Amino acid sequence: MARVGLREWLAVGRVIATGHLARYGGVGDGPLTRFEAAYSQKFGVKHTLATSSGTGALISALAAAGIGPGDEVLVPAYTWIATAAAPLAVGAVPVLVDIDETLTMDPADILRKITPRTRAILPVHMANMVCDMDRIMEIAREHGLLVIEDACQAVGVSYKGRRVGTIGDVGAYSFNQFKNINVGEGGAVVTNDDRYYARARMYHDVGAIFRGHLDNENEPHFFGVNYKASQIQGAMLNVQLAKLDPMLARMRARYRVMTRILEGSQTFRIGPHNDAGNAVGLHVIFDTAQEAAGFAAGHKRGVYRLYDSSRHVYTNWLPVLEQRAPHPRMNPFAWTSTRVEYTPDMCARTLDILQRTCRISLGENYPLPLMAFLARRMASGNGPARQVSYAV
Ligand SMILES: *Cc1c(COP(=O)(O)O)cnc(C)c1O
Repeated sequence: MARVGLREWLAVGRVIATGHLARYGGVGDGPLTRFEAAYSQKFGVKHTLATSSGTGALISALAAAGIGPGDEVLVPAYTWIATAAAPLAVGAVPVLVDIDETLTMDPADILRKITPRTRAILPVHMANMVCDMDRIMEIAREHGLLVIEDACQAVGVSYKGRRVGTIGDVGAYSFNQFKNINVGEGGAVVTNDDRYYARARMYHDVGAIFRGHLDNENEPHFFGVNYKASQIQGAMLNVQLAKLDPMLARMRARYRVMTRILEGSQTFRIGPHNDAGNAVGLHVIFDTAQEAAGFAAGHKRGVYRLYDSSRHVYTNWLPVLEQRAPHPRMNPFAWTSTRVEYTPDMCARTLDILQRTCRISLGENYPLPLMAFLARRMASGNGPARQVSYAV
């Protein structure tokens, strides 16, 4: 979670003073346009489109890529429910894929879940971890699939020198309160493809028919929804973007110091990472669920067992599992040629990993020596550091 303070407050005040808070219709380039240009430059991607949320970004990305009724989209069994709900919003259905010990989609299970109806892979860079993008892109090319990256929980994080979200065909980010960039609610779509960008911009702005976007001549307008961001979000985004890399650098430093200590543990091992040299997400894996639960209970703040963050576990995504739509005739599950079935144990390997794994906060706003001290406590198997409390 990124902190918000005086500089965001001043930036928002300046926008209010201009009297123009909406996305379009202001004089000159507003803060949102400046943010999109700065984000594209920092992330090394051609187009950025700010949206009102990460969910809106994901849905706009899927609509931009032309995914719809009859299509199956591969999503991991460990993510926020929005990842599984987004394909449904464009008429496609999610097919769940197991994670491996990197906490991201297992490429071997992607291969098992591909059917003739599969259109896209939707890998999630979960909890600042990164997916095995080399293998995922290779599988996508071999099978003619699109890759829509959900980088909502890993804003700014790199995989082998490239920012996640910019590697697949389209990427989506969230800037809600719990993400690496925090403006309360917000999101963005990125792509190097001019056509996908034009389509995402149309979709997120009810077709954008009255905007006069000059770079849009070859794409017929279609109707859409309204997921536009406001200039208030834009003002905060510019301040937060400047803080992103320093924050990630603090997390990397804490990852290195803490893992060096935690490696000495006799009771757990450090979770694997698809680009360990750049890691900004730390988890430890036990042999049994009981050991992991005991560790989380003993250390409490800054430590939790992944299985206990139940909203991210597929077995709790009831509206999706029970295939309930807002209207019975608007139910994408009725539109596929072969019915997708869900069962509680369909991703048993994911459940096993989540039950044996604890995530450890890198405490990026706390001093390094404190984090090293806490890591020594964890590695030695002693009880929690009772005098010290720190927030996730
Ligand atoms: C937060 C999140 C989203 C959705 O973002 P919102 O901005 O809350 O709509 C999507 N996917 C994942 C993995 C997330 O963590």
